[in-house]
Amino acid sequence: MMVLSDILIFVFGTVIGSFLNVVILRLPEDKPMTGRSHCPHCGHQLTVSELVPLLSFLVLRGRCRNCKAKISPRYFIIELACGLLFLLGWLVVAPTNFTSYIVYFKFLLVATVGLVVFVIDLEHYVVIENLVLATAGIILLVNLISGHFLNSFLGAFLGALPMFLVWVFPPRGQWMGFGDVELMLMLGAAAGFPGVLVALLLAVFGGGLVSLILLLFTDKTLKSRIPFGTLLVPATLLAMLWAPPLIHWYLGLLGF
Ligand SMILES: [Zn+2]
Repeated sequence: MMVLSDILIFVFGTVIGSFLNVVILRLPEDKPMTGRSHCPHCGHQLTVSELVPLLSFLVLRGRCRNCKAKISPRYFIIELACGLLFLLGWLVVAPTNFTSYIVYFKFLLVATVGLVVFVIDLEHYVVIENLVLATAGIILLVNLISGHFLNSFLGAFLGALPMFLVWVFPPRGQWMGFGDVELMLMLGAAAGFPGVLVALLLAVFGGGLVSLILLLFTDKTLKSRIPFGTLLVPATLLAMLWAPPLIHWYLGLLGF
């Protein structure tokens, strides 16, 4: 029984991931979300059997059924990532009562919106501000209803403040876009306190590590964009699931 529910959660996640693919493709171009997907090469409208998450891509071996043009593996990767995130949150949070279902709901909200923001940021170097602010509002509202508003508000404040200071530091906007300030407002509201501090630390360490690898193994220089903003979403998801053990481990390293 336990295994069946795990599979259902994973499949549900891949279906949502398939929808996120559409959002990621159409949101930056201000295209409507309705209307069937079609092949970007020949315009062939996808049938229901070509829209099954993960399986369609595997059966068609990553090619359009009509013109055989290669389809980007990103669709498959995003469906898989979303399915795995839904399952991971489900297994770690293991919701049993109202409070833990709320925790799982917040994780799913940050995972889905975060996935959209993450991929669009990677491709277009922009943060979709309306989506981020609306999600921040929903998270604060959910926390108000479930009695965690002050903790969530503190998380949002502590998340956005350092980002704002970096953004405002002259020359203003040179170091970081204002979208990252708003993003951290949303993520901080979701992670709460002290989760938000774990998320920021993970993003700083992760950003340093990725920069070092890029410097050592590619021809990027220090002037290249430091992938800090991109790491805020995965860092927050980690913090939402494992903040207490991570804090315990970190304090242990410092000798406490
Ligand atoms: Zn085609």
